[in-house]
Amino acid sequence: MKVVTTIAELRKILAALPKPLGLVPTMGYLHEGHLSLVRRARGECVSVVVSIFVNPTQFGENEDLSAYPRDLDRDFDLLGAEGADLVWTPTQEEIYPVGYQTWVTVENLSQMLEGHHRPGHFRGVTTVVAKLFNATQPDKAYFGQKDAQQAVVIRRMTEDLNFPLEVVVCPTLREPDGLAMSSRNTYLDPKQRQAATVVYRSLAAAVQAFETGERDAEVLRNRMSEVLSTEPLAEPQYVSVANPETLEELNGSVERSLFSMAVYVGKTRLIDNVVVGD
Ligand code: AMP
Repeated sequence: MKVVTTIAELRKILAALPKPLGLVPTMGYLHEGHLSLVRRARGECVSVVVSIFVNPTQFGENEDLSAYPRDLDRDFDLLGAEGADLVWTPTQEEIYPVGYQTWVTVENLSQMLEGHHRPGHFRGVTTVVAKLFNATQPDKAYFGQKDAQQAVVIRRMTEDLNFPLEVVVCPTLREPDGLAMSSRNTYLDPKQRQAATVVYRSLAAAVQAFETGERDAEVLRNRMSEVLSTEPLAEPQYVSVANPETLEELNGSVERSLFSMAVYVGKTRLIDNVVVGD
């Protein structure tokens, strides 16, 4: 496995790698969720490149950019064991050189759900992902359903900008107690870690209600909120039942829908989702 930093080095090595090429973009501090994307790419592509870049432009002013967990040596070991061919760890200076002023914005989808609470977040995501696509020119790019809105926004961008690649969205990997794997879970102390299980329990309660015939969007949202309210350490920011493609909030009777939420446990902001009605 090779590790490169500059775009020039990246291009040189990519030119010699056989196609099809799979790209797995990450912010590092890898866990099984990330590795499941690498495995899928390994199974579907001849060459696999993983990018590790903690993208400053997708963090808000009061968010955890400087505290974001990092351990590159551990990441390299994990990726080596998964058979990644190449790891790209660009510098901030190369991605955003002095004078940088070009942005990629997916207008409407970026304003919904997460976008409403994290203004500018998706502008940062789509800009960096467009740059990663341009630099690596993959045939397939792998993302997690854990970040459901990100997947929808990136699919839209890929289509709108005619990137000649397939966006592959992989299932959310969870801890045995249901908590979605996330690099941010390391912020939780043992009490908070226990409290964080309420996120998946509330989604599971709404799924169960849906599966036993409940179709009213408001009742389903209330079911999630009810379960969340049983955990004093959990502070929900939003609870949503939305159209999985347009991300618009739904009312009345629903069929296929995205149940999603953002919940603070202490200072840690957790997001999770499930799609029902497939
Ligand atoms: P991140 O490093 O958090 O930016 O995540 C990199 C990629 O891994 C994104 O496409 C995420 O959606 C995906 N990912 C993160 N957590 C999980 C998980 N628990 N299961 C599956 N994919 C995940």
